[in-house]
Amino acid sequence: MYMDLPLAVDIYIGIMLFVLGAVMGSFINCAADRYCRKQSVWRGRSHCDSCGATLTVIDLVPILSYMFLRGKCRRCGAKIPPRCLVTELLVAIIYALTYALYGCSFVTLEYIALFSALIALSLVDLDTMEIPDGLLLFCAAVFAAFAYLHGQGVDQMLDRLKDGVIGAVVYGGGMLIISLIMDRILGRESMGGGDIKLFAVLGLFAGLVRGLLLLLIACIVGIISAYASGNKNNAFPFGPCISGAAIITLLVGQQVVNQYLSLL
Ligand SMILES: [Zn+2]
Repeated sequence: MYMDLPLAVDIYIGIMLFVLGAVMGSFINCAADRYCRKQSVWRGRSHCDSCGATLTVIDLVPILSYMFLRGKCRRCGAKIPPRCLVTELLVAIIYALTYALYGCSFVTLEYIALFSALIALSLVDLDTMEIPDGLLLFCAAVFAAFAYLHGQGVDQMLDRLKDGVIGAVVYGGGMLIISLIMDRILGRESMGGGDIKLFAVLGLFAGLVRGLLLLLIACIVGIISAYASGNKNNAFPFGPCISGAAIITLLVGQQVVNQYLSLL
């Protein structure tokens, strides 16, 4: 499904998606934080971690609250983690950018659902060094649901599923083999099981060709991040690097691949 809309309508939807992204970013940040603290994601009202005061509507407007309150609690003045603002802005930009590139289509919906889950699992991975299986299953379910929705007929649906499953096996299996070899060489665990499962799930979306680009970008981002954080030798949360690489690959990877093939 793709609908060609007048420019004004496209701009309006883009702005709405930016706002929705900011709200979702706020929710994802809060949900990930609660998950890491082993609290209920759905129940309980948001409150200041420092003074315990329940946050009101004024404190909860995404992006704007943080800027007006200058990153501090209105009551006790405790610093609000900048990661709140970063997540809200990031998700807002990703939603709007996805719409700008894919317009009013199922691809936009599919990627918005996937990218939201990737941001959530990145935040959890940063805090706990683990990637929740529930979010990986959610991503796989998104792939399966949209393979059905995209398909104009059974053949096309099967083609999508086949390309995805090949991507998952090649990149999930490939990373498993690489990590086993690296474990041997380094004498310690080189890559977490969650990272390998994440590669497999993203292989579904990227397929065989774009998966290669994803792998390349993830390695470059991972190496740069590990050096930048001064954490070359210890365990390092690779999930955010893989997720970032996946978002870049799925948004612009096809164009890069086409450009490259046109040069040959
Ligand atoms: Zn407070």
